Amino acid sequence: MENTAEAPTGPRRTSEHLDTEEQRAFRLKARDYMAGRLPPRIPGEPANAFEQVELVEKDRQIQRLLWDGGLAGITVPRDYGGLGLDKRFEDIFHEEAEPYRLAWHFGNAFNIVLPVLLAHGTEAQKKKYIPGMLSGAQMWCQLLSEPSGGSDLAGLLTRAEKRGDGWVLNGSKVWTSGGHVSDMGLCLARTDPTVRKHAGLTMFLVNMHAPGMTINPIRLVRGGSDFCQEFLDDVAVPDEDRVGEVNDGWTVAQTQLNAERAGMAKGWHAGLRPAAVAEHLTLPQSYVKLARQLGRANDPAARELVGEAFVIDAVYNLTGRRIAAGTRNGRLPPTAGMVSSLLVARTDARRTALLSALAGPAGVARPAGSVGREIGMERVTTHRIGGGTLEMQLNLVSERHLGLPREPGFDRDVPFNQIRTNAAKG
Ligand SMILES: Cc1cc2nc3c(=O)[nH]c(=O)nc-3n(C[C@H](O)[C@H](O)[C@H](O)COP(=O)(O)OP(=O)(O)OC[C@H]3O[C@@H](n4cnc5c(N)ncnc54)[C@H](O)[C@@H]3O)c2cc1C
Repeated sequence: MENTAEAPTGPRRTSEHLDTEEQRAFRLKARDYMAGRLPPRIPGEPANAFEQVELVEKDRQIQRLLWDGGLAGITVPRDYGGLGLDKRFEDIFHEEAEPYRLAWHFGNAFNIVLPVLLAHGTEAQKKKYIPGMLSGAQMWCQLLSEPSGGSDLAGLLTRAEKRGDGWVLNGSKVWTSGGHVSDMGLCLARTDPTVRKHAGLTMFLVNMHAPGMTINPIRLVRGGSDFCQEFLDDVAVPDEDRVGEVNDGWTVAQTQLNAERAGMAKGWHAGLRPAAVAEHLTLPQSYVKLARQLGRANDPAARELVGEAFVIDAVYNLTGRRIAAGTRNGRLPPTAGMVSSLLVARTDARRTALLSALAGPAGVARPAGSVGREIGMERVTTHRIGGGTLEMQLNLVSERHLGLPREPGFDRDVPFNQIRTNAAKG
């Protein structure tokens, strides 16, 4: 996933006046430590582009710096390497970190894997893996989608078989963001094909460097590789790296998907910075710049497109803020977050259509790493498909938020190995 919000311009707003003494001390410590150590935030620099391996490396170092300075894992319990402080301290940190680049490539780790481990991991798993992500030593990815399809996640084909004390995994995963630069992956696999498809899955923590794991980066039209296809051939996973009960992986996956959606709705790196709902409308400014570059600044059709970009940004920001505030103070049910997620997807798709009309072929793809790629048309896939397609998000909102009847599922209660399909099953 990508984070596309740019640094707001103008003086920074903080909530310093609300600080207690302890909070004030923490604020000053964070301010002093980051000044001169962390790189500045550069508007337009990709937040999360796994094709730029040097940026990924830079983020590992940034996370290490924060860890060394006692500023990593602010709300994570102390037993797992965190600071054990409350959310207010995290907000203070983000206010102070606003001028700097943070370790945005750790979005998968902090937005997805961390909440999954905290909710379902064993004590040993939390102690073993959480400090590694907080210190920037281990990068994580999620191994869910498969070549046979991603929307029907419960229909996945990768098998995990018990051998001795551990498990052996075989199959293929695809579209794994950052798979080629990750050390560990959260992997859902089928452990019992004889029961209904949702009931025979188990979640594992898989070492991406393990023998039998082949990682093939997928080359994008713009040059680099953001995501990968993996082949797992007898990849061994010890039983202590199983998350949750055997055949209860669907429960763990729900936490994972909810965490991903929440991260997307907030702005992917909300675990690292309060990006989501920007105070300033920054993205449409890029359209203004682009219209000028294309010599279309006085073209009424282009001006209309730019105007619409401002409107959809305003609607996006205000609705996002309303839902965020409503779910925080309990006026809206937690499922309202699904509407935010859908809004992100819809807004992205519309922005892409606007860009297409404004820039024409020039907007299709930019060379990997070029500044300003946040308005490239390829972005539409990020929220239109990634983290669940628009159609699946519509289903979620209608079924779980609005309580409408469920989509008919002919195979929901059929044992997985009896479902008729043209894909090979275990
Ligand atoms: C930027 C990006 C990053 C990603 N990162 C990861 C990652 O890190 N890890 C990972 O595991 N996956 C990742 N994915 C994969 C993503 O989760 C899948 O692409 C997505 O779930 C859709 O699966 P699919 O591509 O197989 O399409 P399919 O599931 O085959 O869907 C094809 C089309 O059919 C539609 N469709 C399917 N079922 C229904 C239905 N019931 N009702 C209506 N329409 C339906 C879909 O909406 C879609 O339009 C990423 C994808 C993108 C674009």
